[in-house]
Amino acid sequence: MSEIRRLHHFIGGEPTPPHSGEYFTSTNPATGETVYEAARGDARDVEAAVRSARAAFEGPRWQALSQTRRGHLLRRLGDLIGENAEELARSESLDNGKLLREMRGQLATLPEYYYYYAGLADKVQGDVIPTSDRRVINYTMREPLGVIGAITPWNSPLTLTSSKLAPALCVGNTAVIKPSEYTSATVLRLAELALEAGFPPGAVNVVTGYGAEAGQPLVDHPGLAKISFTGSTATGSRIAAATAGRFVGSTLELGGKSPNIVFDDANVANAATGVVAGIFAAAGQTCIAGSRVFAHRAVYDELLERVAERARSIRMGDPLADDTELGPLAFEDQRDKVASYVELGRSEGARVLTGGQSSDGGMGGFFYEPTVLVDVDNGMRVVREEIFGPVAAIMPFDTEDEVVALANDTDYGLAAGVWTTNLARAHRMADRLDAGTVWVNTYRAMSPMSPRQGFKSSGVGVEHGAETIKEYTRLKSVWINTDEGPVPDPFVMRS
Ligand code: NAD
Repeated sequence: MSEIRRLHHFIGGEPTPPHSGEYFTSTNPATGETVYEAARGDARDVEAAVRSARAAFEGPRWQALSQTRRGHLLRRLGDLIGENAEELARSESLDNGKLLREMRGQLATLPEYYYYYAGLADKVQGDVIPTSDRRVINYTMREPLGVIGAITPWNSPLTLTSSKLAPALCVGNTAVIKPSEYTSATVLRLAELALEAGFPPGAVNVVTGYGAEAGQPLVDHPGLAKISFTGSTATGSRIAAATAGRFVGSTLELGGKSPNIVFDDANVANAATGVVAGIFAAAGQTCIAGSRVFAHRAVYDELLERVAERARSIRMGDPLADDTELGPLAFEDQRDKVASYVELGRSEGARVLTGGQSSDGGMGGFFYEPTVLVDVDNGMRVVREEIFGPVAAIMPFDTEDEVVALANDTDYGLAAGVWTTNLARAHRMADRLDAGTVWVNTYRAMSPMSPRQGFKSSGVGVEHGAETIKEYTRLKSVWINTDEGPVPDPFVMRS
């Protein structure tokens, strides 16, 4: 029997065994086999990691590094990710069951996250502020915050970690990352690559382990300057409550139940492809999944037929195979959660038009068929709650006002899709939809250059784009009086 690979934390630039001496296993969801075991972190490991990140932050190497040089390191890290793309893509696919094809696509653009922030690194600056007395100078400085705690989910660990790490490092912070317990491997490798790129030991630390045992102590650690979290709304809410009393800022990227709206003037064939991409890509395990589909009654039957036909023909199987279209859910409980939601839908009166069955994909894994639910309405739990699986609920509508009301009638506000050839309607819908991202005649487009924000219960704060600089810095206002004469009146404020 071959020995199972053992992964340690990455603290202070070194693989570091856990204080507890304990490890937990990570499973390939396509086969159910153990891929590796990772360190089971606890508060003592978090303490070591935060201390190491603080020491790196205050250390002479980091403090002496010019903004331009920091940009250079980010660029180098992007290059290294590109050079190791195939290894990283395979590793993540084995961990969470994402298609290797999709991972190769993600890896092709991942270096750009680092290149984008490399380009911004020497453009982070304060302003000179006008004053009413030219002998008084007022300027602002943008300062790094210190140690950033980054907590990430399992669905796209490398990309979602990079959305935090690249801007955090760009402005001079250091980081402690707690990846999902289901996907530790590629985030650990990313930290190694950061060291190889020239970031000082301790600038990027990773503590692996469970949410309650390693994530919570990180959130509660007094040495943290900020928490940046991507994950479920329930955990995000707990983190917001835990940090609010300490006045520690948090960026929260949370769940979604996004509407994908098809008008009667749409190119229905393209819209059907957009609906399929929105809910069946990555087996529906994306925060932006277009899980609520609204089709105008005039094109409802045609759309349903096209989506159901495509859903039935989706090739489910080995995520490493080039022609596979649907891989497994990322772990067994997630598959069971999806199955129980479909059962709930049935009990609420929904009809399963296609799919609705668990499967082992012929390889012992945790698969679920692409599923279309009809005879549903916006009041059902299956339409209101995030399933995070390949399950679309498709509903008809009659008017634009009606569909705007239906689309916005949700606790979430992450994203929305609109399919129309009417330019005026496209703009109207973009204006009226209560979602942080609106796509028209496309779905799932994303770039490190484009800011994104979850509205309502989908998040707080911005990721991607130059706006992010504000999330990871604080602003200092400096006043200098160049007048060395006597102060005219100590009881009157000057400006
Ligand atoms: P999750 O909330 O269960 O876990 C996310 C991370 O938080 C994991 O690392 C977990 O270990 C950690 N965690 C759990 N409990 C914690 C606690 N008490 N304190 C600190 N950390 C804790 O989410 P998940 O199941 O891993 O991910 C799926 C969710 O992520 C979905 O809701 C999805 O919509 C959301 N998501 C959002 C975005 C976005 O950009 N808005 C992107 C991807 C995923």
